[in-house]
Amino acid sequence: MMKISRDYVHGIMRKEQEPVAFCDSGDVVVFETRDCYNDTIIPGPKQPKEGDPHYDNPATGPLFVRGAMPGDQLKVEILAMDLAPQAVMRTSPTAGAFPHYFTERYFKIFDIVDGEYVQFDETLKLKLCPMIGVIGTAPAEEGIDTETPYDHGGNMDCNKIGVGTTLYLPVNTEGALLSMGDLHALMGDGEILICGLEIAGEVTVRVTVLKDQLKVPTPFLVRDGKVMTVQSAKTLDEASLKAANAMMEFVTRASGLEPWKSGMLLSLLSDMAVCQIVDPMMTIRVEFPLEILEHYGVQLP
Ligand code: CA
Ligand code: CA
Repeated sequence: MMKISRDYVHGIMRKEQEPVAFCDSGDVVVFETRDCYNDTIIPGPKQPKEGDPHYDNPATGPLFVRGAMPGDQLKVEILAMDLAPQAVMRTSPTAGAFPHYFTERYFKIFDIVDGEYVQFDETLKLKLCPMIGVIGTAPAEEGIDTETPYDHGGNMDCNKIGVGTTLYLPVNTEGALLSMGDLHALMGDGEILICGLEIAGEVTVRVTVLKDQLKVPTPFLVRDGKVMTVQSAKTLDEASLKAANAMMEFVTRASGLEPWKSGMLLSLLSDMAVCQIVDPMMTIRVEFPLEILEHYGVQLP
């Protein structure tokens, strides 16, 4: 199985990025990722050396998937996530929902217990729910830094992107150029302080190029019996309309229902949630039951 080392990180997703690895459609690939602080806070054998590339929110990649051409879609099945033994969080005096509480950046390192829990303090142990903060392909237009989420994916900070999730991303350039990083061992909707439980690790994915199958409104994911649109925009208002309309367009087109009927179903059954409010773009997701789509004969690619 191919593994892309954490040595191959970058800070921008763009069509011109040199691929660091090549694979075929259907291959399983492991991405070794640094934490969002470029592994500079937690000491260890993999501490960056002088001359190592430094980025905030570094993403490992990009991976060139042979056969992927503009207009195709890339299916990314997240098969496994292995986490480092320690994680870190840091406060911010300038960003997030609570900057006025802090005059400096305070960080704390946490131990991961049995790969399943974090020891939050002496008395409190929390169950982990690992997720991928940054995952995306090369955007359609200009390059987009790995702090920013948009139509290509990127720093979506959606806590539904974890083991068992199938994620669909756009292909805007030959090879798609998939990158990922910024793992969180745990994070609530909103990411309201400014970070999740930031951690380095390894992610195992299967990547498949979709050509003539049913198109989904990317970024799009399937998890726990639900399909989800994930959309980012300058404001939460814009992002919520974008995510709702992406789902409306998809349900209507895929099911063949008239808009009055699909609109009623969305109002009855879809849930809207905030992925994050702390990045340069805000991210909203809309969830809809997969079984309703299947009831109307829709089969996802
Ligand atoms: Ca993030
Ligand atoms: Ca993060």
